[in-house]
Amino acid sequence: MPENPTAALTRLPTIRKPRSGWAVAPNLTDYEAARAGFRWEDARRELDFLPGGRGLNIAYEAVDRHVRAGRGGRLALRWLGKNGERRELDYAGLGEASNRFANLLGRLGLRPGDRVFALLGRVPELYIAALGSFKAGCVFSPLFSAFGPEPVRARLALGDARALVTSATLYQRKIAAFRESLPGLIQILLAPEADAPATPPGTLDLSSALAACPARFEIPPTDPEQPALLHFTSGTTGRPKGALHVHAAVIAHHVTGKLALDLHPEDIFWCTADPGWVTGTSYGLIAPLTNGVSMVVDEAEFDIERWYRILAEERVSVWYTAPTAVRMMIRAGEDVARRYDLSALRFMASVGEPLNPEAVEWGRMALGRPFHDNWWQTETGGIMIANFAAMDIKPGSMGKPMPGIEAAIVRRVKDGGVEVVDAPEEQGELALKRGWPSMFRAYINEPERYANCFSGGWYLTGDLARRDADGYYWFVGRSDDVIKTSGHLVGPFEVESVLMEHKAVAEAAVIGKPDPVALEVIKAFVTLKSGHAASEQLKRDILAHARRRLGAVVAPKELDFTPNLPKTRSGKIMRRLLKARELGLPEGDTSALEQAQ
Ligand code: ATP
Ligand code: MG
Repeated sequence: MPENPTAALTRLPTIRKPRSGWAVAPNLTDYEAARAGFRWEDARRELDFLPGGRGLNIAYEAVDRHVRAGRGGRLALRWLGKNGERRELDYAGLGEASNRFANLLGRLGLRPGDRVFALLGRVPELYIAALGSFKAGCVFSPLFSAFGPEPVRARLALGDARALVTSATLYQRKIAAFRESLPGLIQILLAPEADAPATPPGTLDLSSALAACPARFEIPPTDPEQPALLHFTSGTTGRPKGALHVHAAVIAHHVTGKLALDLHPEDIFWCTADPGWVTGTSYGLIAPLTNGVSMVVDEAEFDIERWYRILAEERVSVWYTAPTAVRMMIRAGEDVARRYDLSALRFMASVGEPLNPEAVEWGRMALGRPFHDNWWQTETGGIMIANFAAMDIKPGSMGKPMPGIEAAIVRRVKDGGVEVVDAPEEQGELALKRGWPSMFRAYINEPERYANCFSGGWYLTGDLARRDADGYYWFVGRSDDVIKTSGHLVGPFEVESVLMEHKAVAEAAVIGKPDPVALEVIKAFVTLKSGHAASEQLKRDILAHARRRLGAVVAPKELDFTPNLPKTRSGKIMRRLLKARELGLPEGDTSALEQAQ
């Protein structure tokens, strides 16, 4: 094993942050002090809890408490339709609309604990349905609207859906054919859409049903441990798992939004993730609202000019996006960025995949501020490790654990136990001390799998990482993706980041290919930036660059150019698919694959 397995990542200098003189003072100005003084009990006190000691409900904390405190007129959600429409809801309006939805669920015979699914684009009704379901005590489960019929059917069946909010178009394309096979699905509500086909039999028109319901609703007592959300994992490494979260998760959503995303009530915040993924719910809905900000919701898919235009015209001040989007921006070039006025933007963060050091630096160069990487999973419900606004950034590192979160590098030992690796720079599995409020409480229908995620009081994340002497965590790779070559364990992230240093490379993914001598050799797949064409010469040049930076053992031996890398719909590179295709093996579960490729 090399002494420092991710040494190649540390090439770029640390980005120093000012210690004072900010235009907007960060919510967390001194990491060590915040960590030392943090108590979850104090975080709970930042929320209001239901009046009369009736418990804790996500929707009350997100919306109603602001209305009660006289902030109902503040803009909660600005919706940008894909065809140029705009719709705005203030906190009071969102409160009323979600009350109507909660009343509707009751009228339709849904009971607390019942599962309400959504298969809908990013339209206001999706957000209203989520909040209304929380209010009614139902468990909300958003699905990504671009899923094909089979992934939708499988998730509805696995999650025991009682109601589904969708559109007439999506219903006809994806659900009508198998509806009979799901007798438990008793209600289908169709959200309005332009040029909607006629309401199919057996479904309800959501707008008129909501209009017929009262705008007042009293949230029933809600135990903080009551289930609220069911989220399916991205399916990057296999069949997606259904992670169940409870209302108490809102404590973590709120405080991570405040400290890791630095949300201030005057912010205009844009989280680009779809609520079909946990990021789009925890940070595209709950955390921004509990923190009282105005959030932008864009219905359209990624389009670089549109995204820059939104950042500029909506005066977005805090932006939360994903590495895949950042890499697309890099690919398009900084000239595009320079055409827009991004002066309102003060904090940018990224999640979902490792953020290559080059991307952090590119943000600083092209957009005037660095990206702040943070790490978490569907299972953790909220941000666990982050680069905080006031903390120096080491490009390529995920940052430090949230106050209140104890992280460690561990090694699995015999009989299911684990041993904490104390020494810095040692590679091992990233683990979190169990018990934070947004920790998942189950994988639905898979109790054994859930139990296997825990050992000795730790939640084992399945990701490999290391911690440096300053306490920063560095992602090495998912344990499933790590490559064993000539006696070394190589994390794909390091190799891919080095490939991305080459001026022609936009994106890179590496896999291990079986080899009789080395056990595995590394093969790279690379997409090119605009203005560069694939050639044998370029291939040799990129491989030579990798050899220079990584040494002959760890550098890829083979490289293919490809127009696209296979990704999940949440934008994560599916290395397992590249590998299966390369080796001619079965592709496994591809329900989350972005597009047929
Ligand atoms: P599945 O569990 O179904 O294979 P998934 O793990 O991709 O899918 P998510 O819960 O959406 O599903 O993603 C969490 C994973 O994404 C993390 O475990 C990690 O591997 C990766 N990830 C998230 N953020 C980061 C980050 N900042 N740096 C590196 N990896 C990250
Ligand atoms: Mg996972």
